[in-house]
Amino acid sequence: MNLYNRAPIAVDRGEGVWLIDTEGRRYLDCVAGIATDALGHAHPALVAALTEQAGKLWHVSNIFRIPGQEALAQRLVDASFADCVFFANTGTEAVECAIKTARRYHHVNGQPERIDIVGFAGSFHGRTYAAINASGNAGYMEGCGPRLPGFVQLSIDDTAAIEAAIASPTTAAVIVEPVQGEGGARALSGEWLLRLRELTRKHGVLLIHDEVQSGMGRTGKLFAHQWFDGAAPDIMALAKALGSGFPVGACLATTEAAKGMTPGVHGTTFGGNPLAMAVGIAAFDTIANEETLAHARAASADFFERLEALRARFPDVIAEVRGKGLLIGLKMIPNNREFMGIARDHGILVAGGGENCVRLLPSLLISAQEIAEAVTRLEAACGAARGLMAKAA
Ligand SMILES: *Cc1c(COP(=O)(O)O)cnc(C)c1O
Repeated sequence: MNLYNRAPIAVDRGEGVWLIDTEGRRYLDCVAGIATDALGHAHPALVAALTEQAGKLWHVSNIFRIPGQEALAQRLVDASFADCVFFANTGTEAVECAIKTARRYHHVNGQPERIDIVGFAGSFHGRTYAAINASGNAGYMEGCGPRLPGFVQLSIDDTAAIEAAIASPTTAAVIVEPVQGEGGARALSGEWLLRLRELTRKHGVLLIHDEVQSGMGRTGKLFAHQWFDGAAPDIMALAKALGSGFPVGACLATTEAAKGMTPGVHGTTFGGNPLAMAVGIAAFDTIANEETLAHARAASADFFERLEALRARFPDVIAEVRGKGLLIGLKMIPNNREFMGIARDHGILVAGGGENCVRLLPSLLISAQEIAEAVTRLEAACGAARGLMAKAA
């Protein structure tokens, strides 16, 4: 199906932060599969985990115990607010499970009227029907039939509407990305997230964090909400970097929030299969250690400093540098899609994003030298963009 505006590169292989196309051209990859290849390409620990598991066992079904699932779930639980985990294959499935978990909670609590899921403008939760309704973004919903009942979309800045929605007796849960990814690398403040936590708790409404993009070290903490003490949700969706390139998603919850998730209520054929779990465990053990997270924080500080300096040299090209950790947004003055093409011509790959942003989402292991090289290439791209703008004027 003709669903993607694909960049004209046929990718052949990857090495760390580098992608090499079929003609041997090398690109510095600041897309990383949209914040997914958190350890770069062909990381030896992941390659070893996958190849070893491939000769052992691929798939058995969730009617059996899968030791890898128990091991990865234990790691996630030990490192988070959560007590239990459901494994899926993708982010949108993790969100789907989060929404069902929230509605089931109120159902078994004797409040079946609580079905409303409150989401926010500029959010992205994936492409299944519930996920597009939860985000409420018109661009993802147009022509896909009626909006589902039980979804409310608000602006992040509309405090009064947020307070009213959370106080409503039909509200089940609020879903939010602590750092909006597709929306353009918008980091929500600790104050905002803590206020949301306080309000949801007060009114018996569950809080869902969609950390599909911001989680697993992307912001320099294992989970983005961990920057703020007391901000932890009741339910959290993960995917992307959880498998660092192998498809795996997860929905984490407290025992209390998951009390409606009983045998038969939900399930999956492939979710949590032994291949995904083997890679997930290797990825977790490489990401969730202080060395990797400290490296990501230092890389972020370095990158932000260099990008701010670049913006100062090109205020006519870059309007703003924003985001958190290595989820970085450059708000562009020229069209972001055009700039992505110019950057590609200069040997650096960047992702798009809302509000005319381009996003830089490199491997968490990116070196200082590679960051300097990335900024050199972006500088050349900014120069070319400036030239094109002058020509057009
Ligand atoms: C990518 C993303 C999703 C959807 O994940 P898929 O694996 O594409 O289904 C959901 N939420 C957020 C925040 C994302 O960035």
